[in-house]
Amino acid sequence: MQMTDQQLSALVNQLSTLKDRSPFYAKKFEDIDMADVRTQADFEQLPFSEKDDLRAAYPLGLQAVPDSAVVRIHSSSGTTGTPVIIPYTQKDVDDWAIQFARCYEMAGITSFDRIHITPGYGLWTAGIGFQLGAERLGAMAIPMGPGNTDKQLQMMEDLGSTVLGATSSYALLLAEEIEKRGIRDRLKLRKGVIGSERWGEKMRNRIQNELGIQIYDIYGLTEIYGPGIGISCDEHAGMHIWSDYVYIEVVDPATGETLPDGEEGELVLTTLQKEGAPLIRYRTHDLTRIVPGDCACGSKHPRIATLTGRTDDMFKVKGCNMFPAQVEEVIQITNGTSSEYQVMIENISGKDVLTVLFETPLEGEEKARCEEELATIFKAKLGCTPDAKGVPMGELPRSEKKTKRIFDSRY
Ligand code: ZN
Repeated sequence: MQMTDQQLSALVNQLSTLKDRSPFYAKKFEDIDMADVRTQADFEQLPFSEKDDLRAAYPLGLQAVPDSAVVRIHSSSGTTGTPVIIPYTQKDVDDWAIQFARCYEMAGITSFDRIHITPGYGLWTAGIGFQLGAERLGAMAIPMGPGNTDKQLQMMEDLGSTVLGATSSYALLLAEEIEKRGIRDRLKLRKGVIGSERWGEKMRNRIQNELGIQIYDIYGLTEIYGPGIGISCDEHAGMHIWSDYVYIEVVDPATGETLPDGEEGELVLTTLQKEGAPLIRYRTHDLTRIVPGDCACGSKHPRIATLTGRTDDMFKVKGCNMFPAQVEEVIQITNGTSSEYQVMIENISGKDVLTVLFETPLEGEEKARCEEELATIFKAKLGCTPDAKGVPMGELPRSEKKTKRIFDSRY
């Protein structure tokens, strides 16, 4: 990715005072003279910031402003160990709102819309980000938070919600419920803004078709503002990332080398304006690629492709390395499968056993044919043969947050 002149000057400017403001970077870059970083090539030599470094700074070691300038904190979920706490100044909160409002605008959402917000509120950034953007845009925010499907659908109908903000798994759950109750005609939904999570085309199509809405993917992470640093446009050819706030790189996850545009690797982000907790070359562990060239929509903000997984999601069975996105692809191209699936990996008497459960409307011989086809495609793509089992539609669990699909009971 070619850094623009504006990005380079914002960066050089920021780096010149970074060590004075941030004790975290004063220590991390103690052997580097920041005045030596003058070009993109110099910048690409700077060490990465890792999630573990951020965790080690718990609770407020990332803070780069005086206490009086901090107006709030957010925290990553902390499901795996110590959480990361990110302090925000008023400018950071405002900048986040500006970016999220831009996302809504890119999706064709206006101040006349009523935005039904189902992601959670609290320490994490999801619900609050959707809300900030809605208010900045001047739309009506309906701050539902997750859960209580009956109430969700009632409010959606009574208030005439036009936009659904949700994770893909919760959007699917709501879509299925709306279909089951036959209430689609009573709703006014027209767009969906769906939180970043790796998800397949089948699931997207089901949500779009069942709800009859157009869907936009929004990207973000708590460490860098939260959701709203980028979104897909009407071309649906990748997510534009707001390049005046965030600089993107894609690197080889093994060597750390910056990769040419179009090659898949790990997304690395640098904040260009953040005050409370600036981050330089932060490794997201998200796997994607920079989409080369200009987008037909006319936006000059660079694009990343739909996430294909996380560098830490890889699993190994019978000597084969696999990513959930590859399983997703097998489900996608097998005829007769629905969008929902689970992978179970067990150790039975010293042998790895891999089972793929998938939902299908098929029965009897047709189901057996589908199971066989899935196993064949799986073997061809991933190198080992699973035990494929079709289950009735609606059998596998849906989640309000991210749906867990890989269950490894070997360790
Ligand atoms: Zn575009």
